[in-house]
Amino acid sequence: MDLKNLTIKKARELLDSKKLSVKELVQYYLKNIENKNKKLNVFLEVYDDCLTQAERAQAMIDKGESKALTGIPIAIKDNILIKGRKASGASKILENYTATYTATATQKLIDQGAVILGRTNMDEFAMGGSTENSAFGITKNPLDHSRVSGGSSGGSAASVASDMALGALGSDTGGSIREPASFCGVVGLKPTYGSVSRYGLMAMGSSLDVIGPIAKTVTDAEIIFNVIKGKDKMDSTSIPHPDFVLTSPKLGEVKKLKIGVPYHILNQDGISEGVKKNFEQSITKLKDLGFEIKDIKLPNIEKSLAAYYIIMPAEVSSNMARYDGIKYGLSVEGNSLTSLESSNLLDIYKKSRGEGFGPEVRRRIILGTYILSSGYYDAYYGKAMTARKIIRDEFKTAFDTVDVILTPTTPYPAWKIGEKKSPLENYLADIFTVSANIVGIPAISLPSGYANINNNPLTSLGTKLPLGIQFMAPHGYENVLFKLGKSFLGE
Ligand code: GLN
Repeated sequence: MDLKNLTIKKARELLDSKKLSVKELVQYYLKNIENKNKKLNVFLEVYDDCLTQAERAQAMIDKGESKALTGIPIAIKDNILIKGRKASGASKILENYTATYTATATQKLIDQGAVILGRTNMDEFAMGGSTENSAFGITKNPLDHSRVSGGSSGGSAASVASDMALGALGSDTGGSIREPASFCGVVGLKPTYGSVSRYGLMAMGSSLDVIGPIAKTVTDAEIIFNVIKGKDKMDSTSIPHPDFVLTSPKLGEVKKLKIGVPYHILNQDGISEGVKKNFEQSITKLKDLGFEIKDIKLPNIEKSLAAYYIIMPAEVSSNMARYDGIKYGLSVEGNSLTSLESSNLLDIYKKSRGEGFGPEVRRRIILGTYILSSGYYDAYYGKAMTARKIIRDEFKTAFDTVDVILTPTTPYPAWKIGEKKSPLENYLADIFTVSANIVGIPAISLPSGYANINNNPLTSLGTKLPLGIQFMAPHGYENVLFKLGKSFLGE
């Protein structure tokens, strides 16, 4: 059986009708991993008990206890914990750390009988957009090995795109699910803030972080989301997912949904012609499908990036404080101050953090500490929080007149490994994605076609690179994103 274009939905049918066994399915993915992982560096670890997990799943199916994800091979980003297994956040400071409990989102997958294949590469502690900040090497784009896979959930996106997993979990603080999904030509959902428990997710920016799915289709992303969502008593910021439906007073039938496009954001510098052209084509396609497109204004959306790069490092600096060389992971011996001391505590902190953290993490800790220091708090953090409120209000007003908002996912396709030289250049890749995190609303990235790249012989696509568009909906309206996404991709 050719399993190449398999989806979770299709695999479910094959497994439940016994046309395929879980073992066969898992072996197919393990084989792909064996063939491709060395080159692409997608998985930091592949678990050695995948076939035992497969047997457990098969037993569930055989007993007629099959659930949506029973036997489905899933990859998990390396910042989401599984008890008894290593979890490093792609950082040297946690290189040998073994988790003492399991994240709720992953536990829900395990409870369903999903087969957890392994942990995927990422930017260190999810800080970045290319996996170039991983302490364990870059994940190459499966469609062009000279380019990045995006990030920070680059390993998760590449695992799905290269057929090394049927679905994956990522985390999104400012675009880390959507950007790699768009760079790898797959679907990525950043759910509503709080709708998926973050218990067991390594915290980056606590007012922004959310776990979400990456999959080949919108249907598959929806299946995973429906399993992992929900209130969790172990995460006080989690909320019951409201499950708004299309028959709510504001939202009519799917074809009548009104799509708002803030055209003015395309006038910013640095957006590639390929992205602009593809965005126009996507709008035409949506019009042809019967959707109404409305030009809207979000006057301060362009300040989202600046607000994000104040709020996020402020939260990062505080969240990273726990990695001190004592509580977890790497501990570097400090010098002693007196002959009676074996080692000086401050020196342990400094050396462990200095050696354990990579440059981008250190940069954000320093930036965040500066932003939060007394005397500067009002000038930076206070201002960013004011901007956050204004942006949130503008989105709220926009959602009074349209049901969803459409933008490109990224300003350009996947870049060449090493091409971006300064941190600032990297940050600009997030211009379209950070707003959804600032506001807390759900957003989905859908593959929307390709950008033509000249004079660049690529491995599998000739001279094309995948692009994505992004739909954002009001809090709790993931259902609308799914309906629209399915319509756009013809599922
Ligand atoms: N690229 C963004 C950053 O570097 C987003 C990261 C994320 O969503 N985790 O902060």
